[in-house]
Amino acid sequence: MSVETVLADRPAPEVPRDARSAPLIELRHVSKSYSGAGGGAPVTVLDDINLDVRDGEMLALLGQSGSGKSTILRLMAGLTEASQGAVLSHGSPLSGVNRRLAIVFQSFALYPWLTVQENVQVGLIQRRLDTRQEKEEIDRALELIGLTGYENAYPKQLSGGMRQRVGFARALVAQPEVLCMDEPFSALDVLTAENLRTQVVDLWRGSGHAGLKSIFLVTHNIAEAVFIATRIVIISSHPGRLRTVIVNPLPYPRDVNSRQFMALVDQVHAAITALVLPDEPSDAVAVRPADAGPGRAVAPAEGPREEATSGISARVETIPNAPVETIVGLLEILEDSQETINVFDLSARIGREFGETIAIVKAAEMLGLVDTPKDDVVMTQFGWYFLAAPETARKTLFRQAVMKLRLFQMLTARLDAAPDGRVDAGIFLEELGTLLPYDQPPKLFQTLIAWGRYAELVDFDQNANVVYLHEASESDDDEAGEASP
Ligand code: ADP
Ligand code: MG
Repeated sequence: MSVETVLADRPAPEVPRDARSAPLIELRHVSKSYSGAGGGAPVTVLDDINLDVRDGEMLALLGQSGSGKSTILRLMAGLTEASQGAVLSHGSPLSGVNRRLAIVFQSFALYPWLTVQENVQVGLIQRRLDTRQEKEEIDRALELIGLTGYENAYPKQLSGGMRQRVGFARALVAQPEVLCMDEPFSALDVLTAENLRTQVVDLWRGSGHAGLKSIFLVTHNIAEAVFIATRIVIISSHPGRLRTVIVNPLPYPRDVNSRQFMALVDQVHAAITALVLPDEPSDAVAVRPADAGPGRAVAPAEGPREEATSGISARVETIPNAPVETIVGLLEILEDSQETINVFDLSARIGREFGETIAIVKAAEMLGLVDTPKDDVVMTQFGWYFLAAPETARKTLFRQAVMKLRLFQMLTARLDAAPDGRVDAGIFLEELGTLLPYDQPPKLFQTLIAWGRYAELVDFDQNANVVYLHEASESDDDEAGEASP
């Protein structure tokens, strides 16, 4: 675990009397851009964010990976500057590092050569206490966080959960007004995380620790946000925009098994689902389960849904990082559960995080295999047809499906245009970085190749680092002789 306290050499300034009603931290119309890959056009990561951290609240910022959550935290901490808009602390523009907050990060960042006690002491630098006071503060923090007796241990002697506690203790002794946490529990095992979450809530409720007013939690874990936060803000991706604010009225201590808790989790799930898998306008081809069944392997009239109707057909859409087997697995579950399953039940059923589940569903939806009315995942006629088909026919169908995607159209066009049908992977990586600056090109490339291979469209020679067209990909009536490039 790790924590990093934002250190500075001076104590935090007194708050002017007239600023006491202003939010502790406020982002006003903040946008953030980074210069594009290879000097390309700037990429907008955050767009017109309005967000404040209020006195006495536990605010959770919930969003998918890459949506800009950490960037928001860094803006609040004064560790990076807004491209547009203003960052205010108690109503005044923040200049430099925000000394009123401390950050707990997910990654382990304790000093390995310092003992527990000395690691916590690092958080005291800006408070200028004498040795005796320091000792008292450290003891108090360690006791609070359940580490008494480990003062002289070194990080490597501690479990992940205990290291995390050291991180918390270090952040706490700095007496931050706002304790910021960036996915602080995600590197821990389930039970340890549960335990520490409860402790964080107790800490904030007890508010005995001088100065701590509010907590700002960045997370992608819905249940965690509902367990901890008094207010939940949902951010969408590409660029990051604040979409939904949900006030959490549940009394503490919160019971994760209560009906109210589960209802709120559902509400947040639904809000996120609506963002990531929006219901399409009326013309969407939603084939109802009643229209098709496993016994009816009828060729679909339309195949995968045409993107062109959306009016932004020229846009290159990224593909979610979902292996073909997982997509097929999803279809099998749908078959099993009578053609339709609620997306939350699906997440529980496959035992994956909600974000991951959504990525798989999104992939299947882009391929026209499923549809997602409301929070349901429904097999399309094309999905049934695909599932019922033998492996070679599946590949042909998969090929038709991916070729509806701009990314694959571009990939194959590029290979077609190359004199020997071979293109260096580095070139693709660069182009992907330019086309889809929000994605990690290597990951996207991997998925692209995996899907392309399954579809017998393209292949990749790892040694030569070259992508090339699959030999039999031109013929539609392929007998699919064993694919050996
Ligand atoms: P999150 O914490 O929600 O996963 P981040 O705030 O870390 O998201 O990143 C949001 C987006 O900004 C990502 O697409 C990421 O690649 C991009 N990004 C973050 N920091 C930088 C940087 N220093 N330069 C360029 N792009 C960045
Ligand atoms: Mg992050």
